[in-house]
Amino acid sequence: MDTQLARVSLANLPTPLEHLPRLSKLLGVELWIKRDDLTGLATGGNKTRKLEFLIADALEQQVDCVITAGGSQSNHCRQTAAAAAKFGLECHLVLGGETQPPLGNLLLDQILGAQIHWVAKTERNNKMQQLAQQLQGEGRRPYVIPIGGSNAIGAVGYVQAFVELQQQLDAASIAIDHIYFPTSSGGTQAGLVLGAKAAGFAGSLTAVSIDVEPNDQAFLDEVSDVANQAAAMLGLSHRVAPADLQMDFDHLGGGYGVVGQLEREAIRLMAETEGVLLGPVYSGRGFGALVDRIRSGQIAAGERVLYWHTGDESALHAYSAEVLAESESN
Ligand SMILES: *Cc1c(COP(=O)(O)O)cnc(C)c1O
Repeated sequence: MDTQLARVSLANLPTPLEHLPRLSKLLGVELWIKRDDLTGLATGGNKTRKLEFLIADALEQQVDCVITAGGSQSNHCRQTAAAAAKFGLECHLVLGGETQPPLGNLLLDQILGAQIHWVAKTERNNKMQQLAQQLQGEGRRPYVIPIGGSNAIGAVGYVQAFVELQQQLDAASIAIDHIYFPTSSGGTQAGLVLGAKAAGFAGSLTAVSIDVEPNDQAFLDEVSDVANQAAAMLGLSHRVAPADLQMDFDHLGGGYGVVGQLEREAIRLMAETEGVLLGPVYSGRGFGALVDRIRSGQIAAGERVLYWHTGDESALHAYSAEVLAESESN
C-alpha cells in the first residue's frame, strides 16, 4: 500500500482495541470494541482519521479556510472545526435546520471558533458552493470538505484504520467473526470495506444504516466508487463492488437523530456494564443493532464480535431528555 499520501497528525493512534468481559458474559458472545471515540480531537471520533488526509490536502493547496456541512449535532463538523483551528484555518460550518441552543457539539463548534451558517437540510451542498464563491470573491482560498468528509481522500483514513485493527488482532491472536459499525455518508464504510479486503479479513463487516434508506442503489454505488478511488490513490489492486457492501437497514427507527428505545437501551447497557459512553445519533443505534442481532440469534452464541465505536458521546448533552426518557417514566 502506498503510504506516501500527504497526512497531518490529528489522532492518537493506534486507538485501543478492548475486550468487554462483562458485556460478553451478559450477551453470550465474545465482544471487543475499537475505540475510535478516543482519537482525541476535541473529544474524538471517526472523522479525525479522514481529516488527517483532508487537511493535509487542503494545506498542500495553500488554502486559508475550510467549509463543510452536517446536521446541527454533527460530529464531523465539530472535528473539522478543531482540525481547522489547529492549523490556523478559518472554518465555516453549514448546518441543516434552524438556530439551536448551544449544547453538545454545537457548543463545541462555537468554542472552536467556527462560523455557523444555518440552511434547510436540502440546501447544504448549494450553500457550501455559494459560500466558496463568495469567499473566493473576497480574495480568500476556501477548501470544501464534503458532508462527513466522505470522498476518496477521507476514506483513505479508514483503509489504514482497518490495517491498524488487523495488526492489533494478529498481535493478540484474535480472529473476529463479525464487525459492526454505523454508516451515514459512507466514507468510513468505503475505507473499511477496502481495508478489510486489503488485510485479507475473513469475517463479516456490517454497516448499520443510520439514515440510508433500504437498498438505496445510488448510495451503494457511491460507496464503491469512493472505495475504488481510494484504492487507486493507495496503489491497491483490490476493487469494491456494491454487492460487497453488507448493510443492516432494519434499525432506522424514527429516522436520523431520533433517539428511541433501541438507542436508549444500548447507551445504558454499554455505560452501566462497561463504563463506556456511546452517543445518541450513531453509536447508540449501531450498537443497538448489534445487540438485537445477538439477542435474536442471527449472531450465534460464542461468536467473536467487534463493535467499531465511531465516537459521538459529545452529542449526549443535546439529547438528555430523549436519552433519559425511559428511566424517568419507570
Ligand atoms: C459521521 C459518523 C458516522 C458515519 O460515518 P460516515 O463516514 O459518515 O458514514 C458514524 N458514527 C459517528 C459517530 C459519526 O460522527
